[in-house]
Amino acid sequence: MIEGLLDAAWLVDPDSLRILAANAAAATLLGIDVSTLCRTDALELSATPEDIAFWESGVGELTDSVDVQTFVSRADGKLVPVLRRVTRIRFGPGRGSAPGARNETYLVVMRDRSLELRTQAELEERLSELRATLDSTTDGILVTDLSGRIVNFNPRFVALWGVPESLLTEHDDAAVSSWMLRRVSDPVSYTKRLHAIGESSTLEGSDVLTLRCGKVIERRTLPQRNRGQPIGRVFAFRDVSESLETNRRIDALSNTDALTGLPNRRVVASRIEYALALAQREGVAFALLHLNLDRFKPINDALGSAAGDRMLVEVSKRLIATMRQVDAVSRVGADEYVILVHQADMQRAEGAARRLLDALKPPFTVDGMNLTITASIGISLYPGDGSTSDELLQAADDAMNDLKASGGAGYRFHHQPVGATVVKLRTRMKLDHAMRQALASGRFRLHYQPQVDLNSGEIVGAEALIRWRDPELGDVPPAEFIPAAESSGFIVAIGAWVLRQAVQQAALWHGRGHRLLMSINVSALQFQQPDFVDSVARALAEVGLDPQWLELELTESILIQDAQEALHRLQALAQLGVKLAIDDFGTGYSSLAYLKRFPIGRLKIDRSFVRGLPKDEADVGIVNAIVNLGKALHLDMVAEGVETEAQRLFMLNTGCTQYQGSLCSPAIDALSFDALLDRGLAFAQDMADDGGWIEGGS
Ligand code: C2E
Ligand code: MG
Ligand code: MG
Repeated sequence: MIEGLLDAAWLVDPDSLRILAANAAAATLLGIDVSTLCRTDALELSATPEDIAFWESGVGELTDSVDVQTFVSRADGKLVPVLRRVTRIRFGPGRGSAPGARNETYLVVMRDRSLELRTQAELEERLSELRATLDSTTDGILVTDLSGRIVNFNPRFVALWGVPESLLTEHDDAAVSSWMLRRVSDPVSYTKRLHAIGESSTLEGSDVLTLRCGKVIERRTLPQRNRGQPIGRVFAFRDVSESLETNRRIDALSNTDALTGLPNRRVVASRIEYALALAQREGVAFALLHLNLDRFKPINDALGSAAGDRMLVEVSKRLIATMRQVDAVSRVGADEYVILVHQADMQRAEGAARRLLDALKPPFTVDGMNLTITASIGISLYPGDGSTSDELLQAADDAMNDLKASGGAGYRFHHQPVGATVVKLRTRMKLDHAMRQALASGRFRLHYQPQVDLNSGEIVGAEALIRWRDPELGDVPPAEFIPAAESSGFIVAIGAWVLRQAVQQAALWHGRGHRLLMSINVSALQFQQPDFVDSVARALAEVGLDPQWLELELTESILIQDAQEALHRLQALAQLGVKLAIDDFGTGYSSLAYLKRFPIGRLKIDRSFVRGLPKDEADVGIVNAIVNLGKALHLDMVAEGVETEAQRLFMLNTGCTQYQGSLCSPAIDALSFDALLDRGLAFAQDMADDGGWIEGGS
């Protein structure tokens, strides 16, 4: 009978406790063969004190059967965990039983638990690993079953929602739910969403909850499945308050200029919109000031962008300090600012512009250097100059550009005051008419400014500068009528006259043995005339002047507009033998590419850079940079507007080759120039006699 059992089994005699019979499974479990086992005492197999006590006394009280988890010792000494059942079996008085013998026996059945225990241990380990994983995620995790009962959660969940420990240990799910409901700032939609989630066991998704305490929590939920079947739901909660704050900061940063902390272009438009709304509601005017620093680019190039940045920070500070709190100062470009002045009419706008310009007047100290800078401010007024922010910005920008074109450093309204506009218009028409008359009746004159060799002190050239004395208008400076002539196109006629006049004078001087280079200024429109190269060639041929003695002064902007066409034309002129120079170098686009591509022979360093020498350190930097550039490209250089000995010495020491300026002479008429030439020769001769640095005049 016991042989038919799967588990180890043996029979024990109740009196002697000897084993009467055992099955093969018992032999396997205990490591003893069946025959040896049958001579063994049940007590010998006992491995624990409880078992010994059981067999010694407890077994007598056994009425039916008893199950116990215990150990049994194998023959090799190993303890095997087992589930043991001992059953008292009674026989009826039957065959072969000895008289007086008890008609009973104990059936001992043992099931080896080693495998079961090992599996259980492994499972527990796996579980605790999972637990640790769950506990270490930064997300709060809550697991419920399909009916919504809480199955699992991690400490992060508790912390995130601030759930009291007691609620959780009490397994009071309803209390936990209502706790969470009380925490959210919008319980209605929270409940709605929870219902929706509850409706569908397969729903996956995420949403954002805001808690009353201000925390923002992202909630993700997905079904928990077992063998493909949904058995519950996992909620993961993540605190996104900080990353939201980061996003907000990024947003704020993108609204401000990183360098100066001022609001940027994006903000300007919205501030203007606001001002527009306010102005329309309350009927008050406001002004936009577009401020652009003059000559910032060359300063930046010369000093390096780090110093340039520091300068901008300083500029920004001064601008802010100048304006009222309500007026918005924003930086809209490298060296450009837009200032919104609330409740401003023309006078107030003008006052603001003056204050801004004044604020920039004291020199800036950057990296221990003293720098000066000016600015150009264009002003537009609401409602006069536009009704949208685009129109107003454009108007202020236009005014600023107009101002720049005529020299900058100041402020200008988009619309001049009514009186002034009329006056200006009248003079513009008058100017045009008067210019035509002046050319026809020969009232233009050319003056010549000597160009002096810095090393020898010798006059080596002359720049022809146009002069016009009108019987009615008086002396009109070229800075006033040249731009007018350029915009009406009349400059082409004037330029042709200057060309002929200048080469004629040059030929005259050459005839008298003065080997002077004649420089003339060429306007863009003139340069772009299809027959320009021919007209130069013709003018030279007419007077028999060798082309190498004529130099054309071009501005950087000429070279930038239609660079391909410009290149052809310059090459044709170079072919002809005419010299080419860039006038006012450094004030324009300063694109270095064209210097290499174009057959340029000379750079004229703009007067504005020479003015501050030798004190202004930005000017020092810029001029040094230009001269070094010129040297590297094997270009001659002329410094314009040298007025003092200190400036001359500075230019001499940097290695610049020539200068012009009032130190030697302003532009003078041809007769005076002749006199100067004679004196200059005598002067040079003196120097040579003194054993000075002169190689002798021609
Ligand atoms: P630019 O070609 O740069 O000429 C130099 C200007 O600087 C001249 O002004 C000259 O008189 C002035 N200048 C020279 N040395 C000194 C100095 O030491 N101190 C000061 N404060 N100024 C000095 P100007 O004659 O009034 O001419 C102004 C501009 O008008 C010229 O600038 C040039 O762009 C234009 N221009 C003059 N003549 C002509 C011409 O015949 N044709 C064209 N297209 N433009 C001309
Ligand atoms: Mg010039
Ligand atoms: Mg110039």
